[in-house]
Amino acid sequence: MNLNQQVLRTDVAGMPLEWISYKDAGRLYHLKQVAYACGTRLYTLHGGINASTGDQSIIEVNSIIATHGDGPGMCNKRYDYKPPLNNQTLFRRDNNLCMYCGHHFLTNALSRDHIRPISQGGVDTWENVITACRRCNNHKAGRTPAQANMQLLAIPFAPTYAEYIYLKGRRVLADQMEYLLAHFPRRSPLHARISNALARPRRGQAGFALETHV
Ligand SMILES: [Zn+2]
Repeated sequence: MNLNQQVLRTDVAGMPLEWISYKDAGRLYHLKQVAYACGTRLYTLHGGINASTGDQSIIEVNSIIATHGDGPGMCNKRYDYKPPLNNQTLFRRDNNLCMYCGHHFLTNALSRDHIRPISQGGVDTWENVITACRRCNNHKAGRTPAQANMQLLAIPFAPTYAEYIYLKGRRVLADQMEYLLAHFPRRSPLHARISNALARPRRGQAGFALETHV
């Protein structure tokens, strides 16, 4: 039993809300906030002994739990939600690939590139940023891809809320992946990646090397 395994919390309608720890999940069960559970059983928690009956309470925590009540900032989750931009999620959106040379890198070797540079009026938004290795970013410098004669390998996109949750997950289980996938937009660029991950035997967080020419 991996105690770091996160539980996917959804609202009663099944809309993904956030990742929570088994302790938080146990608390929600205890507060009778859990409406129903999906996925696989992750943890069996043993609670206190009931003084009158002598029974020990047992809580079984599943990988996905639907809860009553509001999640964190429930408004704007569905349509016009723009998740906060941070490098960790940005690099995961781009699968740790440099979007110029196509090579896979560890997170600490990657950087955030502004497609249209800030110095040329570019903004710091999901649609104007892309993952780049240091070398490509230095080469591009304060130019647009066209000015630098570099080609982008993918079109940057702002994740929807469900996509953002997926990208923030530390170790997403297959059933959680499938669940989140069902909430992605039909044209989500993440579809293919997740489908591939689900089709493949689990081998940890192996990188997906995309062979592309520069
Ligand atoms: Zn590169």
